[in-house]
Amino acid sequence: MELEFWGVRGTFPLTGKPASAFGGNTPCAAVTSSQGDILIVDAGTGIHALGNKLAAEHEAAPLRLSLLLTHFHLDHVQGLPFFGPLFLPNTEISFYSAADPEETRAHLERLMGHPFFPMPFEQTPAKKTFKKAGAQGIMIGAILVSACPLNHPQGSVAYRLEEENSAVVFATDTEPAAGSLDERLAGFAKKASCLVYDAMFTPEEYVAGKQGWGHSTWLDGTKLAKASDSSRLLLSHFNYEHSDRVIRGFERLSQRVFPDSECAREGLRLKLA
Ligand SMILES: [Zn+2]
Ligand SMILES: [Zn+2]
Repeated sequence: MELEFWGVRGTFPLTGKPASAFGGNTPCAAVTSSQGDILIVDAGTGIHALGNKLAAEHEAAPLRLSLLLTHFHLDHVQGLPFFGPLFLPNTEISFYSAADPEETRAHLERLMGHPFFPMPFEQTPAKKTFKKAGAQGIMIGAILVSACPLNHPQGSVAYRLEEENSAVVFATDTEPAAGSLDERLAGFAKKASCLVYDAMFTPEEYVAGKQGWGHSTWLDGTKLAKASDSSRLLLSHFNYEHSDRVIRGFERLSQRVFPDSECAREGLRLKLA
Protein backbone atom coordinates (compact mmCIF):
# COMPACT_ATOMS: atom_id res chain seq x y z
CA MET A 1 0.00 0.00 0.00
CA GLU A 2 1.28 3.45 -0.86
CA LEU A 3 0.00 6.74 0.52
CA GLU A 4 0.37 10.16 -1.07
CA PHE A 5 -0.87 13.50 0.22
CA TRP A 6 -2.44 16.04 -2.14
CA GLY A 7 -3.91 18.50 0.36
CA VAL A 8 -3.32 18.99 4.09
CA ARG A 9 -5.03 22.30 5.00
CA GLY A 10 -8.36 22.48 6.76
CA THR A 11 -11.31 24.78 6.20
CA PHE A 12 -9.95 27.00 3.43
CA PRO A 13 -7.08 26.80 0.95
CA LEU A 14 -4.00 28.92 1.52
CA THR A 15 -1.77 30.28 -1.22
CA GLY A 16 1.64 31.92 -1.42
CA LYS A 17 4.70 31.88 0.76
CA PRO A 18 3.09 30.88 4.09
CA ALA A 19 2.03 27.58 2.46
CA SER A 20 5.10 26.90 0.33
CA ALA A 21 6.48 24.04 2.47
CA PHE A 22 3.37 22.08 3.49
CA GLY A 23 1.07 23.19 0.67
CA GLY A 24 -2.18 25.10 0.76
CA ASN A 25 -4.78 22.70 -0.67
CA THR A 26 -7.65 21.33 1.39
CA PRO A 27 -7.76 17.61 2.28
CA CYS A 28 -7.07 14.91 -0.27
CA ALA A 29 -4.92 11.78 -0.08
CA ALA A 30 -4.50 8.82 -2.41
CA VAL A 31 -3.86 5.25 -1.32
CA THR A 32 -2.78 2.70 -3.92
CA SER A 33 -2.86 -1.00 -3.16
CA SER A 34 -0.21 -3.51 -4.22
CA GLN A 35 -2.70 -4.57 -6.93
CA GLY A 36 -3.07 -1.04 -8.28
CA ASP A 37 -6.46 -0.21 -6.71
CA ILE A 38 -6.75 3.57 -6.28
CA LEU A 39 -8.62 4.87 -3.25
CA ILE A 40 -8.92 8.60 -2.65
CA VAL A 41 -9.78 10.04 0.76
CA ASP A 42 -11.66 13.34 0.47
CA ALA A 43 -12.13 15.72 -2.42
CA GLY A 44 -10.66 18.98 -1.13
CA THR A 45 -8.87 21.27 -3.57
CA GLY A 46 -5.89 18.88 -3.63
CA ILE A 47 -7.93 16.46 -5.76
CA HIS A 48 -7.56 18.77 -8.77
CA ALA A 49 -3.84 18.03 -9.25
CA LEU A 50 -4.38 14.34 -8.43
CA GLY A 51 -7.07 14.19 -11.13
CA ASN A 52 -4.72 15.69 -13.71
CA LYS A 53 -2.06 13.12 -12.86
CA LEU A 54 -4.50 10.19 -13.04
CA ALA A 55 -5.99 11.39 -16.32
CA ALA A 56 -2.52 11.81 -17.87
CA GLU A 57 -1.37 8.39 -16.68
CA HIS A 58 -4.41 6.56 -17.98
CA GLU A 59 -5.19 8.59 -21.12
CA ALA A 60 -7.24 6.15 -23.22
CA ALA A 61 -7.21 3.28 -20.69
CA PRO A 62 -10.24 2.90 -18.40
CA LEU A 63 -9.80 4.40 -14.97
CA ARG A 64 -11.48 2.91 -11.90
CA LEU A 65 -11.45 4.93 -8.69
CA SER A 66 -13.00 4.85 -5.23
CA LEU A 67 -13.57 8.15 -3.45
CA LEU A 68 -14.08 7.95 0.31
CA LEU A 69 -15.68 11.07 1.76
CA THR A 70 -15.22 11.66 5.49
CA HIS A 71 -18.12 14.15 5.48
CA PHE A 72 -19.55 16.89 3.29
CA HIS A 73 -18.09 20.07 4.78
CA LEU A 74 -16.88 22.23 1.91
CA ASP A 75 -13.16 21.80 2.55
CA HIS A 76 -13.61 18.05 1.87
CA VAL A 77 -15.70 18.28 -1.31
CA GLN A 78 -14.88 21.64 -2.91
CA GLY A 79 -12.35 20.14 -5.34
CA LEU A 80 -14.79 17.61 -6.80
CA PRO A 81 -16.21 19.87 -9.55
CA PHE A 82 -12.61 20.34 -10.74
CA PHE A 83 -11.64 16.65 -10.67
CA GLY A 84 -10.71 15.80 -14.29
CA PRO A 85 -11.66 12.07 -14.20
CA LEU A 86 -15.29 13.05 -13.47
CA PHE A 87 -15.40 14.37 -17.02
CA LEU A 88 -13.87 11.29 -18.69
CA PRO A 89 -16.36 8.80 -20.16
CA ASN A 90 -14.08 5.79 -19.63
CA THR A 91 -13.91 6.37 -15.89
CA GLU A 92 -15.81 4.64 -13.11
CA ILE A 93 -15.98 6.33 -9.72
CA SER A 94 -17.47 4.68 -6.63
CA PHE A 95 -18.39 7.25 -3.99
CA TYR A 96 -18.38 6.12 -0.36
CA SER A 97 -19.57 7.97 2.72
CA ALA A 98 -21.21 7.20 6.04
CA ALA A 99 -24.52 8.52 4.63
CA ASP A 100 -27.02 6.40 2.72
CA PRO A 101 -26.02 6.10 -0.96
CA GLU A 102 -28.96 8.19 -2.19
CA GLU A 103 -28.12 10.90 0.30
CA THR A 104 -24.50 10.99 -0.90
CA ARG A 105 -25.68 11.33 -4.49
CA ALA A 106 -28.12 14.13 -3.52
CA HIS A 107 -25.43 16.08 -1.62
CA LEU A 108 -23.05 15.93 -4.59
CA GLU A 109 -25.80 16.91 -7.03
CA ARG A 110 -26.50 19.92 -4.82
CA LEU A 111 -22.78 20.81 -4.70
CA MET A 112 -22.69 21.07 -8.50
CA GLY A 113 -26.30 22.14 -8.98
CA HIS A 114 -27.67 25.28 -10.62
CA PRO A 115 -26.46 28.04 -10.23
CA PHE A 116 -23.22 26.94 -8.55
CA PHE A 117 -21.60 25.02 -11.41
CA PRO A 118 -22.22 24.95 -15.17
CA MET A 119 -22.40 21.16 -15.55
CA PRO A 120 -24.73 19.23 -13.25
CA PHE A 121 -23.06 16.38 -11.38
CA GLU A 122 -25.49 13.84 -12.86
CA GLN A 123 -24.50 14.86 -16.42
CA THR A 124 -20.76 14.39 -15.92
CA PRO A 125 -19.53 11.58 -18.21
CA ALA A 126 -17.91 9.28 -15.61
CA LYS A 127 -19.94 6.26 -14.50
CA LYS A 128 -20.87 6.82 -10.87
CA THR A 129 -21.98 4.47 -8.13
CA PHE A 130 -22.74 5.25 -4.48
CA LYS A 131 -22.05 3.05 -1.49
CA LYS A 132 -22.18 3.27 2.26
CA ALA A 133 -19.09 2.74 4.43
CA GLY A 134 -19.49 1.60 8.01
CA ALA A 135 -17.96 -0.20 10.95
CA GLN A 136 -18.25 -3.49 9.10
CA GLY A 137 -15.28 -3.61 6.77
CA ILE A 138 -15.76 -3.81 3.01
CA MET A 139 -13.19 -4.90 0.47
CA ILE A 140 -12.34 -2.34 -2.18
CA GLY A 141 -9.99 -4.29 -4.42
CA ALA A 142 -7.22 -5.55 -2.15
CA ILE A 143 -7.93 -3.01 0.61
CA LEU A 144 -10.22 -3.57 3.59
CA VAL A 145 -12.01 -0.29 4.41
CA SER A 146 -13.91 0.47 7.59
CA ALA A 147 -15.31 3.67 9.10
CA CYS A 148 -15.73 4.99 12.64
CA PRO A 149 -17.92 7.97 13.66
CA LEU A 150 -16.09 11.04 14.98
CA ASN A 151 -17.05 13.91 17.25
CA HIS A 152 -17.51 16.76 14.74
CA PRO A 153 -20.35 19.21 14.01
CA GLN A 154 -22.82 17.49 11.61
CA GLY A 155 -20.74 14.30 11.88
CA SER A 156 -17.63 12.97 10.22
CA VAL A 157 -15.94 9.57 10.05
CA ALA A 158 -12.45 8.17 10.34
CA TYR A 159 -11.41 5.61 7.73
CA ARG A 160 -9.13 2.65 8.24
CA LEU A 161 -7.54 1.17 5.12
CA GLU A 162 -5.76 -2.15 5.53
CA GLU A 163 -3.79 -4.39 3.25
CA GLU A 164 -2.00 -7.42 4.64
CA ASN A 165 -0.13 -6.22 7.74
CA SER A 166 -0.32 -2.50 7.16
CA ALA A 167 -3.07 -0.05 8.02
CA VAL A 168 -3.50 3.67 7.56
CA VAL A 169 -6.12 5.54 9.59
CA PHE A 170 -7.43 8.98 8.60
CA ALA A 171 -9.02 10.94 11.45
CA THR A 172 -8.91 14.55 10.33
CA ASP A 173 -12.04 16.23 11.64
CA THR A 174 -12.52 15.29 15.24
CA GLU A 175 -12.44 16.65 18.78
CA PRO A 176 -11.91 14.45 21.82
CA ALA A 177 -14.44 14.95 24.61
CA ALA A 178 -13.21 17.59 27.09
CA GLY A 179 -9.70 16.67 28.18
CA SER A 180 -10.12 12.96 27.53
CA LEU A 181 -9.21 10.45 24.90
CA ASP A 182 -11.68 9.15 22.30
CA GLU A 183 -11.49 5.49 23.36
CA ARG A 184 -13.58 4.30 20.42
CA LEU A 185 -11.18 5.97 17.98
CA ALA A 186 -8.15 4.61 19.86
CA GLY A 187 -9.59 1.11 19.41
CA PHE A 188 -10.36 1.75 15.75
CA ALA A 189 -6.80 2.97 15.12
CA LYS A 190 -5.23 0.05 17.03
CA LYS A 191 -1.71 -0.71 15.80
CA ALA A 192 -2.04 1.51 12.73
CA SER A 193 1.13 1.71 10.66
CA CYS A 194 0.23 5.32 10.09
CA LEU A 195 -2.28 7.52 11.91
CA VAL A 196 -3.25 10.71 10.06
CA TYR A 197 -4.69 13.07 12.63
CA ASP A 198 -6.31 16.49 12.97
CA ALA A 199 -3.89 19.24 14.11
CA MET A 200 -6.09 22.24 13.41
CA PHE A 201 -5.39 24.13 16.61
CA THR A 202 -2.47 24.57 18.96
CA PRO A 203 -3.23 23.44 22.53
CA GLU A 204 -3.10 27.14 23.54
CA GLU A 205 -5.65 28.16 20.90
CA TYR A 206 -7.87 25.26 21.85
CA VAL A 207 -8.19 26.23 25.51
CA ALA A 208 -8.54 29.90 24.56
CA GLY A 209 -11.91 29.44 22.85
CA LYS A 210 -11.85 26.69 20.23
CA GLN A 211 -13.58 24.01 22.29
CA GLY A 212 -16.65 22.71 20.50
CA TRP A 213 -15.34 23.54 17.02
CA GLY A 214 -14.87 19.83 16.28
CA HIS A 215 -11.10 19.83 15.90
CA SER A 216 -7.99 18.70 17.74
CA THR A 217 -4.40 19.66 18.51
CA TRP A 218 -1.02 18.04 17.84
CA LEU A 219 -0.99 17.06 21.53
CA ASP A 220 -4.27 15.14 21.15
CA GLY A 221 -2.65 13.41 18.16
CA THR A 222 0.31 12.23 20.22
CA LYS A 223 -2.04 10.93 22.96
CA LEU A 224 -4.10 8.99 20.45
CA ALA A 225 -1.01 7.63 18.69
CA LYS A 226 0.28 6.30 22.03
CA ALA A 227 -3.08 4.93 23.17
CA SER A 228 -3.66 3.16 19.85
CA ASP A 229 -0.08 1.89 19.70
CA SER A 230 0.26 3.35 16.22
CA SER A 231 3.72 3.18 14.63
CA ARG A 232 3.70 6.62 13.09
CA LEU A 233 1.75 9.85 13.52
CA LEU A 234 1.14 12.21 10.62
CA LEU A 235 -0.44 15.48 11.67
CA SER A 236 -2.70 17.09 9.07
CA HIS A 237 -5.75 19.34 8.46
CA PHE A 238 -3.73 22.42 9.34
CA ASN A 239 -5.37 25.70 10.11
CA TYR A 240 -5.22 28.03 7.10
CA GLU A 241 -4.21 30.76 9.55
CA HIS A 242 -1.09 28.77 10.51
CA SER A 243 1.96 29.49 8.38
CA ASP A 244 4.59 26.85 7.63
CA ARG A 245 6.65 28.33 10.46
CA VAL A 246 3.89 27.67 13.01
CA ILE A 247 3.44 24.12 11.71
CA ARG A 248 7.18 23.42 11.92
CA GLY A 249 7.07 24.66 15.51
CA PHE A 250 4.45 22.18 16.63
CA GLU A 251 6.04 19.40 14.59
CA ARG A 252 9.11 19.76 16.84
CA LEU A 253 6.95 19.78 19.97
CA SER A 254 5.03 16.66 18.91
CA GLN A 255 8.29 14.80 18.18
CA ARG A 256 9.39 15.35 21.78
CA VAL A 257 6.28 13.53 22.99
CA PHE A 258 5.92 10.97 20.18
CA PRO A 259 9.21 10.68 18.24
CA ASP A 260 7.68 9.04 15.15
CA SER A 261 5.53 12.02 14.34
CA GLU A 262 5.71 14.54 11.55
CA CYS A 263 3.50 16.96 9.70
CA ALA A 264 2.01 15.77 6.42
CA ARG A 265 2.76 17.83 3.37
CA GLU A 266 1.61 17.88 -0.22
CA GLY A 267 3.67 15.47 -2.26
CA LEU A 268 4.67 13.34 0.74
CA ARG A 269 4.65 9.69 -0.35
CA LEU A 270 4.95 6.78 2.01
CA LYS A 271 5.24 3.08 1.36
CA LEU A 272 3.38 1.18 4.04
CA ALA A 273 5.00 -2.22 4.15
ZN1 LIG B 1 -12.30 19.79 7.53
ZN1 LIG C 1 -15.60 19.34 8.96
